[in-house]
Amino acid sequence: MRVDVDVDLCIGSGQCALTVPEIFDQDDDGVVLLLATTAPPELHDEVRDAASRCPVRAITPTDR
Ligand code: SF4
Repeated sequence: MRVDVDVDLCIGSGQCALTVPEIFDQDDDGVVLLLATTAPPELHDEVRDAASRCPVRAITPTDR
């Protein structure tokens, strides 16, 4: 699974980093940091969950 984030949309709510800390972190301003652009199979459900929890829909998971 490919993972993309739109940092311009991010409002720093932190839901993604709380949900999948293996993939998402936040910088000192709270803006999302993408730790990996590819999520392993065991994290696909969590990444989809993080995307659905993001209040500004800044996270786009793409199956491939
Ligand atoms: S959940 Fe969305 S708005 Fe919140 S830190 Fe992550 S990308 Fe940014």
